[in-house]
Amino acid sequence: MKVIIHGGFFSESATNQKTKKAKQAALNAVVAEAFEYLQHHTALETVIYAVSLLEDNDLFNAGLGSQIQSDGKVRLSASLMDGKSQKFSGVINIENVKNPIQISGQLIAYDDRVLSGDGALHFARQHGHEYFDPITSERQEEFEMKRNQQERKGTVGCVALDGDGNIAAGTSTGGKGFEIPCRVSDSATVAGNFANKFAGISCTGVGEDIVNAALAAKIVTRVSDGISLADACKKSFEELKRFDGFAGVIGISYTGDIFHMDSHPYMVWASNDGEIRVFD
Ligand code: ASP
Repeated sequence: MKVIIHGGFFSESATNQKTKKAKQAALNAVVAEAFEYLQHHTALETVIYAVSLLEDNDLFNAGLGSQIQSDGKVRLSASLMDGKSQKFSGVINIENVKNPIQISGQLIAYDDRVLSGDGALHFARQHGHEYFDPITSERQEEFEMKRNQQERKGTVGCVALDGDGNIAAGTSTGGKGFEIPCRVSDSATVAGNFANKFAGISCTGVGEDIVNAALAAKIVTRVSDGISLADACKKSFEELKRFDGFAGVIGISYTGDIFHMDSHPYMVWASNDGEIRVFD
C-alpha cells in the first residue's frame, strides 16, 4: 500500500520559512492520515479522503482559500480517476461548494461524469453539497492588491495504491488566479489527472502546458507500455522542455514504484511507502 500527495508549486516556499514549515506539517499530517485510511479503504476512497483534507486546508489552492479569478469569483475544478474501472469524473468551474473532489466521487457512478458550471452546481446541491464560500479574507486581500500571480498557492492531488493492487488519482484546484473567468484548468482533464491499472498520475503547474503535453495520460500510457514510472516521467519532462513547459507530477505504478518530478523548483509533496517523506 502506497500513497503520495502534492500541494502544488509554491513560490513562497523558497523565501518564507514559516509558510514552508506550515506546508510541510500539513502534508505530513495528511499523508499519515491518508495512509491510515488506506489500510481499510480502497485507493479511490483514499484519494477522495486525502484530497478533501487538502481542500479544507487554506494553505492550498483548492477548496477553502482558492485563488480568485479576474472577475472576483472563485471557480473550482477537480477530478478523480479510478484505475480499476478506468473511469474519469470531474467538475469544472463550480462555484460555492466546499469539496469538489467529493462531487467528482459521486459523479463516477453516473453515465455523464464530467459537469461544468451551473450543471455541476445543480448536481452538487441535489447531492447534499450546501452553499459554501471558499474565499478567505487573506485571498480577498491578495486579490484586491493584485498579488495573486506573484504568490501562487498550490493545487492539490493524491495517488494511492491499495491492498488489492488498485490505483486511483485525484486532483483539485482553484486555478491560476486572475485568469479569464471560466478558463478551464488541466486538473479536471485527463492531461492533469489519469490512472489505469498500471499507474496513476496527478499534475500541477501551468494548466496550458500540462494540456499541451497531455502529461498525466502520456506518462500512464508509457508505464502501460512497459516503461518504468521514473523513465516515463523523465521522457515526458524532456518533451516538456521543448516548449519550456512548467509542471510537476506525483505518481505510483502497479509495481509499487512511487515518484515525483518537477520542471521547476518548489513543488511540495509528501509520500508514505512505509515511511513518511516530505519535501525539503
Ligand atoms: N494546474 C493548475 C491550473 O493551471 C494550477 C496549479 O497547478 O497550480 O489551473
